[in-house]
Amino acid sequence: EEECEFNLVEIIQRAVHWVTNITSESFQVEMDLPHFIPVLGSAAQIQQVIMNLVQNAVDATAEVKSPRLRIQAKIEKDKAVVEFRDNGSGILPENFPKIFDPFFTTKPVGKGTGLGLAISYGIVERHNGALFAANDAHDGGTIFVLNLPLYQSAK
Ligand code: ADP
Ligand code: MG
Repeated sequence: EEECEFNLVEIIQRAVHWVTNITSESFQVEMDLPHFIPVLGSAAQIQQVIMNLVQNAVDATAEVKSPRLRIQAKIEKDKAVVEFRDNGSGILPENFPKIFDPFFTTKPVGKGTGLGLAISYGIVERHNGALFAANDAHDGGTIFVLNLPLYQSAK
């Protein structure tokens, strides 16, 4: 797999466009992004991770009146921090320990394979990053947080 320096912000935008092109117009994505976050690794794999997070937000908000996803990216010390907050169903406490397990899904047959988060977790781990979830106490939905080490090129 190709290892490159890439702009994480560009990959977030591409992933969002790719998914929202095929979703209903009522699904709103609000993005709060800087211009540039350098990361080292596979841009294609990280795009796959983000596309899965966005698709999961689309699925989780299918029954809410104003489906919404907020994506905020920032640099904190030596890492990139990207937060995905949706106002969807949230995750049941008993399901929390299982969401990263291969084949765990709460979606109907044919809708989900339960592989998205398992594969994403492996990809992020190989990039020396972290991926975790929390319920949003305010909005009632789910928050996913993606951490990736910043790429610091030698000057
Ligand atoms: P799939 O999307 O095929 O079900 P994933 O591995 O992507 O598989 O997700 C596993 C499960 O985690 C989902 O079926 C769902 O129960 C839960 N989940 C993931 N993202 C969200 C989210 N944003 N809101 C609520 N539940 C979620
Ligand atoms: Mg999924």
